[in-house]
Amino acid sequence: MTFDPETTTFLIAGPVRIHPRVLRAMSMPSLNHRGDYFHGIVTEIRELLPVLFGTKGHQVIITGSGTAGLEAMYSSLVPKDGRTLVLTNGNFGDRTNSIVRRYATNVTTLSAPWGQAVPSVAVKAELAKGDVKAVCLVHNETSVGLANDLALIAPAVKASGALFLVDGISAVAGIPLPIEEWGVDAVVAGSQKGLAAPAGLALVHLSDRAVAALHPGTFYLDLAAHLKSLEKNDTPWTPAVPLFLALREALLLLKEEGLDHRLEKTHRLAEASRAAVRALGLELFPDPRYASDTVTAVKNPPGMGDPEFRKVLERQYNILLQGGQAALAGKIFRIGHMGIADWPDLLVTFAAIERILSRAGKLPAPGQALREVVDRMP
Ligand code: PLP
Repeated sequence: MTFDPETTTFLIAGPVRIHPRVLRAMSMPSLNHRGDYFHGIVTEIRELLPVLFGTKGHQVIITGSGTAGLEAMYSSLVPKDGRTLVLTNGNFGDRTNSIVRRYATNVTTLSAPWGQAVPSVAVKAELAKGDVKAVCLVHNETSVGLANDLALIAPAVKASGALFLVDGISAVAGIPLPIEEWGVDAVVAGSQKGLAAPAGLALVHLSDRAVAALHPGTFYLDLAAHLKSLEKNDTPWTPAVPLFLALREALLLLKEEGLDHRLEKTHRLAEASRAAVRALGLELFPDPRYASDTVTAVKNPPGMGDPEFRKVLERQYNILLQGGQAALAGKIFRIGHMGIADWPDLLVTFAAIERILSRAGKLPAPGQALREVVDRMP
């Protein structure tokens, strides 16, 4: 079997597989983005966005990948005076740090080793020093398969009065985020992750407090300009029209499925993946207490690099998993199980991994990984 993008088992950490209904939705002739028909589509998207975020609020659609949403959020909200606190424990946290430092003047960065949680006591201690006006962090650190425990961090941020700005790109619609309860002021979601739409749109949720704090950041990504246009179901600049059509359909699918159901299924797929990984005799990369429900990151089988492992999955079995980023390249593999990923995806993947490990004489308990998946199926 050779790699075939049309039929592959596609489990990278986003973009994720796209439902045929969403793909078909993009096959429309050009639309006038200033006309009534398109305004109707934007209206529907605005009505549906609370399904994605689990709450109503000020919600913006930005043409651009997730990073555009992050740049919009940080450039418009990190304070010009006062301190900004950035937490990082992976590649995307480090990127947050770089973006924030472009726009904020006084930044304190709290780092933990990649794959380890930033201790909440350290966060509290930093907040106690005072003058922190914004706290920025990645909810789900996709690079290392770790979900930061916002339930522990959020109350401290709330008590401090700082704005709470969250990169939810690989978390939204995959990991519960009670925005209001936790006092989150801004969250960025990426279209290509839990929502299972194509890559290229960022969705930003803002609290009332965040809207009041907006200041002009970059020109293209000015959140105030986006909000103003959206009041008329319009966009400030030419939007990626086909992606908006796909977004509407992906939101409709999510509404039909129900956000709670998608979160629950993602959690069960993650638990099955973790159990299967243990049965294979392999080790998770992150601290297992913080293992992500959307992305399972695993240390490569001992003695096997990408050519012996992930590339065999791709070439021999038409299965796409993701490798490690930066220093983790060739050292870990990542299974994305968010969006519309489902049980058959895991069955095929773990069957193929068992075969590869068995051929290499490294499979401790034949059939056990599959058993762990099957036993967790609904
Ligand atoms: N932040 C997180 C947590 C991500 O997972 C990603 C992409 O995987 C990004 C930021 C960057 O998003 P994009 O590549 O869509 O710009």
